Parts: sequence; structure tokens; C-alpha cells
Amino acid sequence: MTNLPIYVNIKTCLTPFINITMSDCLLLNTDGQPVSLLPVSTLTWQDAIRYMVLEKGNVLAWHDDWVVRSARWETPVPAVIMLKEYMKPKMTVRYSKSNVFLRDLYVCQYCGITVPKKLATLDHVLPLSHGGKTAYENTVTACSKCNSAKGNDKRVRPKKAPHRPSYFELVEKRKRYPFDFKHEEWRMYIET
Ligand SMILES: [Zn+2]
Repeated sequence: MTNLPIYVNIKTCLTPFINITMSDCLLLNTDGQPVSLLPVSTLTWQDAIRYMVLEKGNVLAWHDDWVVRSARWETPVPAVIMLKEYMKPKMTVRYSKSNVFLRDLYVCQYCGITVPKKLATLDHVLPLSHGGKTAYENTVTACSKCNSAKGNDKRVRPKKAPHRPSYFELVEKRKRYPFDFKHEEWRMYIET
């Protein structure tokens, strides 16, 4: 390991770190599928280089115009890495506001209009002030107009009762919206 560049810290790289936001390198499982699509499994460029140096994965694509250097070493930055050992994918769906919006396809569950992503609001069907929980079964997407009109009125109900989405439901819905590809090669692994 004498060739390790100075910024590689081996101690921190033994457990995979998957970023919440799209990062620099797509991480594929041994089956060629992203380890996760919710969110898309990516590595920072630093982690991607650690994976490469420690031979935890094979690089399938490189960033053409991106080279990083240390004092003695330089390398292009991996754009796609496929793991050598299968990582069991997590199929559980954590609760999040963005997953509620995705489940509802950004449609206000009261008036039925599609709300622009930045303007979507989260509504508690049974309001918090009435003991409502922040859970998939009690939260829906709402436009700000319906949300403020409803206020704390627990009698106002959405058109259909909210449900806990499955992983596969959310992945299928996620694929209807554009991804922020950091490399053209990602498209064939994510969109298919
Ligand atoms: Zn509305």
C-alpha cells in the first residue's frame, strides 16, 4: 500500500458510506444494479478512490476530465464502481417528507392539483395538535392553499387515505422524475 495517496485514510473506509445526495461515483452491486435507488447509491470522489485502492470494487467508468493528485500519485476519478462483494440492499423505506411527496406524485391530496416540487407542503391528516403522528399513514402532500385552508380542522380528509409505500412503489415512482446524472454512463444503470 505504499502508493496510497496522502488523502486516503484507510481506517474510515471499511464500511461503505452512501451519500444522501447524488455524489461523484455511482456504486453498483455485484449484479450491476445500483446498491440503492432511494436514494441513488453514490460515493464521494474520496471514497471512490478508497474503494479502488483497496480493491473493494472494479471501476467501470471514469470521469474523463477529472484527475486528482497527491504528491506522488495521480488518478482519474471513478464515475462507476461495481462492488466485488454483494451488499445486501436495504429495501426498507424510511419516513421522509420527500418520500411522502413521491408517493403522492406531488399531487395535492385535497384538491388534486400537481404542486411544483418547491411549493409542496406536508399536511398532517389528523393534525399534530390533535395527537396526529408524523407517519406515512397520517401525512399527505398538500398545496399551500389547501394546507392553510385546512388548518387544524381534523374533519377535512384527503380524497383517499394515505398509506405506507413499499420500496418498489417508491422506486417505480422515482424513475418517473429526472436524475441528476454526474456521468452519462449512469443513465443505463439507473433508468433501466
Ligand atoms: Zn390543494
